[in-house]
Amino acid sequence: MPQQWVPNHDFLSLTRQNPNGLAPSQFQLENGTEVQIWDTGVICFTPEGVQDKDIVLSCGVHGNETAPIELCAELVSDVLQQKLVLKQRTLVLFGNPWAINAGKREVEENLNRLFSGHHSKGAGLINAERKRALALEKYVTRFYQQAPVGTRKRYLYDLHTAIRGSRFEKFAVYPYLHERKWQQNQFEFLLACGVSTVLLMQTAASTFSYYASHQHGADAFTVELGKVRPFGENNMSRFTEVRQSLRALVADEALAVKPFVESDFHLYEVYRSINKQTQDFKLHFANDVENFTTYPVGTLLATDGDTEYRVEKEGEALIFPNAKVAIGQRAMLMVVPRSVKGQLE
Ligand SMILES: [Zn+2]
Repeated sequence: MPQQWVPNHDFLSLTRQNPNGLAPSQFQLENGTEVQIWDTGVICFTPEGVQDKDIVLSCGVHGNETAPIELCAELVSDVLQQKLVLKQRTLVLFGNPWAINAGKREVEENLNRLFSGHHSKGAGLINAERKRALALEKYVTRFYQQAPVGTRKRYLYDLHTAIRGSRFEKFAVYPYLHERKWQQNQFEFLLACGVSTVLLMQTAASTFSYYASHQHGADAFTVELGKVRPFGENNMSRFTEVRQSLRALVADEALAVKPFVESDFHLYEVYRSINKQTQDFKLHFANDVENFTTYPVGTLLATDGDTEYRVEKEGEALIFPNAKVAIGQRAMLMVVPRSVKGQLE
C-alpha cells in the first residue's frame, strides 16, 4: 500500500490534507478488491468476481454537510480495513475538499449548480468549484465507461443535508427523467434508507444527480438526510437506516424492502419557482421555517418590490427558501402533492 495515505485507512483526512489534488495510485486488498485513488476525494473500488452494478456515492458537494461525509468516510475506511467486503464496483466521491476544509457550503460558487456543462458556461472555468465540477463529471464518466461489458445498472446517490430543518426529516430529489419512467425499486430503496418524501422534478437541472441520470442513464438522486451540523455534532443514530442500506447495496447483501405502496410516501412535484427579481425581495415567514411547511391559500409568502407571492394551491409547500441568493436566482421552490399511480416501472 502506498504509505502516504494508509494511516488509519482514513481517506477523508488524506483528502483534506491534499485539497488541491492527489497523485493517482492503486493497490489490491488481501480480499482481492482493487483500490484506485484517482484524485483528492475520489476513490474507486473494484471487487473480484462478477458484479452487475456500478455505484457512485457522493458527499461533500456542499462542504459543511458533514453527516454524509462522515458516513462515506466510515464506509471507505471499513472497505480498506476489509471490515466491509464489497461485491459491487463502487466510486466514492468527496465533492468539494476546499469547502469541507473551510466548513462552508461553498467557497466561491454552489458546486451543485455547475453540472451538465454549466461549469463552462458564462465566464468559464474561473474558480475551483467550476474546475471540480468538470473533473467530477470526467470521473463519473470514466467509472461508468470502464465497467465490464454486459447488462449492468448504474446508480448515483448524492448525499446532502439541508440548511434548515424539514417537516419530513429526510427527502430525496428525483431528477427529471425525460422519456424514462420512475423506478419502483428505487422508491423501495429510498424507503429502506428512511426516505419517504420524494420531490419529482419535471425539468432539467444543473445538479450532480440530474447529470448522472440524464448523461449516464443512472438511477440517481439528491438525498437530503437532515440538517447541517459541524463535524462530530451529528447524531449518527439518525442515519442508521441509510447507513445500513448503502452498505448492503455495495456489499450486495439482501435488503428487506417493503413493496411500494404510495401511501407510505409524501410525493411532490414543483408547482413554481420563485426567483428573486430585486434587492427588495423579502420572505414573510420566520427564518427557521422548515422545508415542506404549508400555509392556507392566500397567505403572503414573499414580496419583491411591488410583486406579492401568496399561497395559490391547497397543500402547496415551500422548500429551500433563501432570500440571500443573487438577483435572478431561485429564492424558493413551491411544491404540491402528486401521485405516481400507474407511472412506475
Ligand atoms: Zn447540499
